[in-house]
Amino acid sequence: MNIDILLGKTQEHLVPLEGTKYLVHHQMLKDFLRLQQNATQAGFDLQIASAFRDYARQLKIWNAKATGERQLLDDQERPLEFSKLSPTQIVFAILRWSALPGCSRHHWGSDIDVYDANTQAAADVKLVPSECIGTGPAAKLHEWLDSQFSQKNDFGFFRPFVTDQGGVSPERWHLSYYPISRRVIDVYTFSLFKRNIEESEIIFKEIILEHAQEIFQRYMMSFDLP
Ligand SMILES: [Zn+2]
Repeated sequence: MNIDILLGKTQEHLVPLEGTKYLVHHQMLKDFLRLQQNATQAGFDLQIASAFRDYARQLKIWNAKATGERQLLDDQERPLEFSKLSPTQIVFAILRWSALPGCSRHHWGSDIDVYDANTQAAADVKLVPSECIGTGPAAKLHEWLDSQFSQKNDFGFFRPFVTDQGGVSPERWHLSYYPISRRVIDVYTFSLFKRNIEESEIIFKEIILEHAQEIFQRYMMSFDLP
């Protein structure tokens, strides 16, 4: 596999999702459309809020959070006071909600964030846990996805971030296409992870490298399997 696919530095593996601005892995398109069609039959309008994201975009997100330009949240979605955090605390606060550039599953074209367009306008989608449970606008869609996944009628998709393993915050909205993401994970090594950070223009690079092993294990390699 081309290393640039792992790092979000190429689009050679992607195709556009018709009628949207999103790009997805060419091998996943058919199964995604099947999932979407089944959701429609069940009364939902399953739409994508985020699909492929490239390295440059992820770097921008990281650096905007690292400088306090973009709000940091605690585990309960409450705003954190940037000026009161140490650099190390900032790094780990970002990692809870955002991947490092080169480390996002959204680089691979296999991972998508979804919502129900029948109950929520695209502009209102925040992708926070409260949207996906209880009386949240995407709760019913996710109950339906639960029922599909538990019947092994999973269309190849699963949720990698459901249980809280102390790394990435639970993200019910994030679906991953197993046949592709599994192959990426198999070849994504710690040395690639480290080299990517060393070569990046990322803010707090030294702190990230100091905690490289822990970050790689907790935020990249700890996730739920189908
Ligand atoms: Zn996501």
